[in-house]
Amino acid sequence: MTWYKDWMVVSDLDGTLLDHDDYSWEPAAGALATLKHHGVPLVLASSKTLAELRLLAKELEIHQPMIVENGAALAWPEGEDYSSQTMGRPRAELIEVIEQLRADNGWRFSGFADWSASDVAEDCGLDLEQAALALDRHGTEPLVWQDSEEAYDQFVKEIEAAQLRAVRGGRYIHVMGQFDKVDGLMAVVEALGVGRATRLKILAFGDSPNDAEMLSAADVAVRIRSRKSTDMKVQAPLLLQPTQPGPYGWAEAFDQWWKAEGKPASSTPNPS
Ligand SMILES: [Mg+2]
Repeated sequence: MTWYKDWMVVSDLDGTLLDHDDYSWEPAAGALATLKHHGVPLVLASSKTLAELRLLAKELEIHQPMIVENGAALAWPEGEDYSSQTMGRPRAELIEVIEQLRADNGWRFSGFADWSASDVAEDCGLDLEQAALALDRHGTEPLVWQDSEEAYDQFVKEIEAAQLRAVRGGRYIHVMGQFDKVDGLMAVVEALGVGRATRLKILAFGDSPNDAEMLSAADVAVRIRSRKSTDMKVQAPLLLQPTQPGPYGWAEAFDQWWKAEGKPASSTPNPS
């Protein structure tokens, strides 16, 4: 049996497989073709919605389970499409808590619930159709914080008291139930590993603190360089830190892993 049959790959999107600014994955196209050719599953794990991920998976020509909205939901391949499984609290409940906190404390922040599709389009650099997909949410609410760091710390305390959590992603703060991308990953590893004698090994890619737990659960973790990557504490047995950002770094680390047949030496520390 060839070594790669023991592996699956899981990847964050924004700032990781997709370029932070133009959302391109083209620099990693060769790596993705290698995975596809050898039948190694690539699982997308993102703060994006199922509506957004469905389109992207089609573009990438993959049809695997997906970790949606930071783990708020899982998408399982079903026929040509996906069935969704909600993991956290529904979005309407989150919005109720967030709006009450803002009314009670006068904190300055805004989120998707306050915005029209054209506001979302402008802020994310999306077209209107894409913005509508981003607004089609299961169980996370993206916010832009416009108040002090002290107020933010207080906000986080209140959010946690309401049995929710706030996680900083590349672009937004995501308010969500008490679950994480890693919870989704564990469910997916189990599902993909059905019938195997040993657990599938995991190669994981991420660039922000909301990827930290997922990377720490991997056998080989890749910390993609970004503005937030140094805030991410990763405890995987093996950590690769490519020098280039986004999909360029993705391809760089992938090649290192692939050429070493899943046993690369740890790369030198990220100097940033
Ligand atoms: Mg990211």
